[in-house]
Amino acid sequence: MHYVKGLVCISCQKNYAPEPDRYLCSSCGENGLLDVEYDYSLLQSEWSPEQLQSSTAPGHWRYLPLLPVDPATPRPPLRVGGTPLYHNRALGEELGLQEIIIKDEGLNPTASLKDRASSLAVVKAREAGNNTISCSSTGNAASSLAGSAAASGLKAVIFVPERAPGGKVAQLMIFGARVISVQGSYSDTYELSAASIDRWHWYNRNAAINPYLMEGKKTAVLELAEQLNWQMPDWIVLTVGDGCTIAGAGKALQDLRELDFITRKPRLLGVQAAGCAPITRAWQQEAELQVCAEDSLADSIAVGNPRNWKKAVRAVRDSGGIMINVEDEEILEMMKLLGRKSGIFGEPAGVAGLAGIRRAVKAGIIQPREKVAVIITGNGLKDIDSARQAAGEPYSLAPEIEAMEEVVCKEGLD
Ligand SMILES: *Cc1c(COP(=O)(O)O)cnc(C)c1O
Ligand SMILES: [Zn+2]
Repeated sequence: MHYVKGLVCISCQKNYAPEPDRYLCSSCGENGLLDVEYDYSLLQSEWSPEQLQSSTAPGHWRYLPLLPVDPATPRPPLRVGGTPLYHNRALGEELGLQEIIIKDEGLNPTASLKDRASSLAVVKAREAGNNTISCSSTGNAASSLAGSAAASGLKAVIFVPERAPGGKVAQLMIFGARVISVQGSYSDTYELSAASIDRWHWYNRNAAINPYLMEGKKTAVLELAEQLNWQMPDWIVLTVGDGCTIAGAGKALQDLRELDFITRKPRLLGVQAAGCAPITRAWQQEAELQVCAEDSLADSIAVGNPRNWKKAVRAVRDSGGIMINVEDEEILEMMKLLGRKSGIFGEPAGVAGLAGIRRAVKAGIIQPREKVAVIITGNGLKDIDSARQAAGEPYSLAPEIEAMEEVVCKEGLD
């Protein structure tokens, strides 16, 4: 932790010591999200891309100098990060680009990018001396925390809205979490979890307010940059729910630029579902957030009252990027297209970025020759119903070759 200078309030700039259970500014409350500040000059004098290259730490722990954890605290043994990067022309062309770069975060231990934050949360819980950790989640943060807690021998209390897809709830139960399915929206779920955490003093993994979790999520972009040998693309595309992931991306770019690991910052394209896009609205109108309904099948990004919206808007703005909304039909279409052109199975919130790219190219915001990297944030096996809706059902045949003949003919397989 000797590279961490402290925490600073994004509203009033008040400083705090980096205690593991310091979540918000005590003067500003919910408006007082905190940022972790690093001593970049000390870091730069002790750490370099060459040193990083020779690191043998597993997965995202290779970025430990840029993470707000005490190196002496035990870390969960699950391998988080180290996810692959693919250059894909066929998919790029479908979206109006020469090529697209895909980072598949569905290959994390619990099959979403959330593992990057949860692995940090369990370390911070230990530092806080707390054996029970809790969060509310649309699904992935929950299953991810349950997995990391199981791997670390901690108890997890998880709140999910009743709409959470079956695959995610099944993961929770398998990992042995205490699961509360809340009869209400995600916002209701968040409120009940916040009240319970407050009352029973569990460690709080709500990414929206816990300042350390965004630092975990930023490792997706640190890794992307290293995999591209520090040659950054023109755009990085992410889907936006609470706003913590895209804010993390912005933080990664800030870190890398401050340390001179990269020479220029890409622009961020943030994508929300049209049926729940409060952050796009706040970005567009340069206004305060207005809470909205959660009407999208992309459950992981359907967050009507995102707590991290300020950091998200700031990250997009600082990068010279934009926010865009896409319809559910486009998201389903992209699940199918991604699967067919790349062999990657993404969940709706995982692939919505592709629909955003197509729109941005059509609108002339992204140029066909620009380099675009998209992060597929979660695996489609978690939400089979949406996959079926996107791709349909198989042929159902009697076990007779005549019936098969028809299919072969129709599909042009002869
Ligand atoms: C959580 C999540 C997001 C969005 O991240 P936020 O930090 O909530 O903005 C996107 N895709 C998937 C699959 C997620 O689980
Ligand atoms: Zn403050």
